[in-house]
Amino acid sequence: MAGEPDDDPRRRIPRTDAVLAHPGLAEAERLLGRTLVKSVVVTAQERARAGEIAPDEVPGAALAALPSVATGARAVLNATGVLVHTNLGRAPLSQAAVQAVVTSAGNTDVEFDLSTGTRARRGREALAALAEAVPSAGDVHVVNNNAAALLLCALALAAEGGEIVISRGELVEIGDGFRIPELLASTGARLREVGTTNRTHLADYADAIGPATAFVLKVHPSNFLVSGFTSEVPLAELSGLGVPVVADIGSGLLAPHPALPDEPDATSALREGAHLVTASGDKLLGGPQAGLLLGEADLVRRLRRHPAARALRVDKLTLAALEATLRGPAPPVRAALDTELTPLRDRADRIADKLLAEGVDAVAVESTAAVGGGGAPGVRLPSAAVSLPGTYAAVLRVAEPAVVGRIERGRCLLDLRTVPEEYDEQLLEAVRRCTS
Ligand SMILES: *Cc1c(COP(=O)(O)O)cnc(C)c1O
Repeated sequence: MAGEPDDDPRRRIPRTDAVLAHPGLAEAERLLGRTLVKSVVVTAQERARAGEIAPDEVPGAALAALPSVATGARAVLNATGVLVHTNLGRAPLSQAAVQAVVTSAGNTDVEFDLSTGTRARRGREALAALAEAVPSAGDVHVVNNNAAALLLCALALAAEGGEIVISRGELVEIGDGFRIPELLASTGARLREVGTTNRTHLADYADAIGPATAFVLKVHPSNFLVSGFTSEVPLAELSGLGVPVVADIGSGLLAPHPALPDEPDATSALREGAHLVTASGDKLLGGPQAGLLLGEADLVRRLRRHPAARALRVDKLTLAALEATLRGPAPPVRAALDTELTPLRDRADRIADKLLAEGVDAVAVESTAAVGGGGAPGVRLPSAAVSLPGTYAAVLRVAEPAVVGRIERGRCLLDLRTVPEEYDEQLLEAVRRCTS
């Protein structure tokens, strides 16, 4: 080409086929697929064309840029101090749940009885585990998420303009524009709002109940607090109104937790008289995304038999992870909640001391962690963090693994309550790489 001398190194850039034949890349193609590997090769060729690397460095650069798995999703160390961080995928699964997912990834007996060779109830082990965990529930069912659980309640129990009675203080927006009243109304059910934003009384409910009432819905305000001149009606009183009471407890605690005295749990809600409880699987329960439905057997049966139940059902991976979360060791969210302050302080000291000795402006500080949008608003969990210069935040976010901290007064805090101890070394390494 005119203007390009023959010895232009760009002419020596190897062809795509030739690079793909490199043994390492051929192996990667087997594991990750041709499309992904090819795109990495093309990027390396472009870098050579731009003069960033030499032509013979193309295979090496492509190899170095290969992801370890065939997904764009990146692993993140949650050092935000927010236990259930929706933007970071909420609850991280326990190792037991991860193993269960891996086992179930192939063909499994999710809906098959191996001893008789016939069809069996889908997800029976996960459902049994949930029923065992909440003995007050007459029956249980699992759907895609808590929103799906509420949707199914409205579809199955409040069809054709049936009324759902709900307090004006509980018309809640959960996050990213998701509003529970809009979800319910989308089914064709009618919302009968009672009381006021701050105060609702039993008489407000009683006055609204009539032949059209399908159920009373009590929604836990999981991401805000109301205080001052307020009153709400406890489940025990609602349950005497003569209509089903559905309690959306949000966070998925199955039994009371001592550190979260104001957070509702499924067992208490059922004992107090709720006929059905709905909850998320990936908040304080610490499991996979799922919607838990627990309550009176005839109501649960109606939900399960509704045609929409099929559209809302969970896959085998969710069932496997849920069962392992319920039956296995405490998942990370639970461990983060239950960890004492002293070991957190010791870890922060240890990490900060090491970094300081290496010339990093790191210092161990007191911190305050939170449960997050997933529940327990206002609960402050004492914690410990490693404080770094604010400029670290952006670099750590693109590290491998990515580390997401929290900015406070210009400093980047890495809160250790949400980082399992076994990741301390990875955290240290990520910070070290920022400085080199
Ligand atoms: C989080 C939450 C929901 C939504 O749950 P998903 O599992 O995200 O669908 C509904 N209600 C309450 C009270 C919640 O806290």
